Amino acid sequence: MTLPVLVDLQACETQTSFLSRLAAANMSKSATRFSTDMSLSFLDLVRGKPRDLSRLAELGEVDCEALLRHAIRSVEGGGHVLADQAFEKKTLLRSNLRVCPACILADYDSGGEFAPFDRSYWHVGGLRTCTRHHCTLLSTSELAKDRSPHDFFGRLMEVAPRDRLAGGSSTAAEPTGLEHYIVARIHGGATHTWLNKFGLQVVIKTSEMLGAVLRSGANVDLLALDEREWAASGVAGFSVLSAGDAAFRESLRDLQRRHGGSTGGPQAHFGRFYQWLYSGAKAKQYDRVRDIVHDHITSSYPIATGTVVLGKPCVRRRVHSVASAAKEAGLHPKRLRSILEAEGYLQSPSGASRNDGEYLFDAELVRPLLINTSMSVCQGRAQRELGISRSQFDVMRKWGFVAPVSQTAKAKPRYSVLAIREFRKKILRHAETVAVPEARQSDLQTELPPEIRTLT
Ligand SMILES: [Zn+2]
Repeated sequence: MTLPVLVDLQACETQTSFLSRLAAANMSKSATRFSTDMSLSFLDLVRGKPRDLSRLAELGEVDCEALLRHAIRSVEGGGHVLADQAFEKKTLLRSNLRVCPACILADYDSGGEFAPFDRSYWHVGGLRTCTRHHCTLLSTSELAKDRSPHDFFGRLMEVAPRDRLAGGSSTAAEPTGLEHYIVARIHGGATHTWLNKFGLQVVIKTSEMLGAVLRSGANVDLLALDEREWAASGVAGFSVLSAGDAAFRESLRDLQRRHGGSTGGPQAHFGRFYQWLYSGAKAKQYDRVRDIVHDHITSSYPIATGTVVLGKPCVRRRVHSVASAAKEAGLHPKRLRSILEAEGYLQSPSGASRNDGEYLFDAELVRPLLINTSMSVCQGRAQRELGISRSQFDVMRKWGFVAPVSQTAKAKPRYSVLAIREFRKKILRHAETVAVPEARQSDLQTELPPEIRTLT
């Protein structure tokens, strides 16, 4: 069938906008009525089913690929896809009419009566301002009886006709970096390479949630934020994320510092951002953000192997606190702290208020010392392990055959059981039973001649 009047498909135009303009241009009362008359399923067109979009493209004599590119398609199980980007229902707004009055007026001026069209990016929740005209989008839930919310042109004529748009003054507003990014991403021309690895919805929500806690604190009351504050949160979060991975991690460290590194773990430090990642951001596409935060947490907090953080277990402990290491190694925290300080693994705290949970160190680096220390014994036990007297032990120590695992002024030296046993094994490997010492042989109580050192 050939329609009497055709309209041009515009850049970034949604399928329902094109359908509704085609309907109006052909004197149909509504897009739904027009669909029925043309034997098209309005519902399937709203859902963006490819077969129906193809039939619409054929009817309207436009390029099907171009129509598909900015068609909003419903996904089974909820959510939508627009311009290859997946959106949850709450991040892509379909039922409200959202337009820039200046864009619509410009459409009339350039294309005539049926030219005003719906830009696909106007449906993206994170966009509140027109990046072209620097004014806030008009958003209304107003809908005439019997009019489908998806009948863009019919609804526009009823809710915001040309004279009303021309008479009303839209509020001037400077578009944010995030808003410019949203439009560029939908157009396919966004330049932030690191950010482009994430879904657009992920960039928007992560910017807003991170920005909210950066601006208003970990326990920000999200329900109390209005649109202006959400926009400001998006600005704060996007300025961090657009600077890349390192800046994102630094912002997390900043949130930690705000608490003085004191009591509480990541849940307390990151507050609503953590809670949102844990239970709010359910879609799988948020996993990339979760992975970064998970990596940051397991490398900045004393998280034990196997502990579940943000739904994923910690594969390997990377950080210990004196408290966690002391508990794991079965040592007294005070003694362990003095050993670690003496070995240079801990810096003396600047304030006296720090507790053992706040002294952090690299778990991997200190692992051998911890094992040795936890399996260490006092000198008496070490002597018994070797079966030698105290004076013999002193000689062995003097010559460096045995050495304490650590030596501090505050604690008595202790010896690694493993090292002692290893040393005994080496000695016995070369040992011969001597019933009566020859002239050149002596026991350990006599000064140990240097050549004997080669035994080990
Ligand atoms: Zn505009």
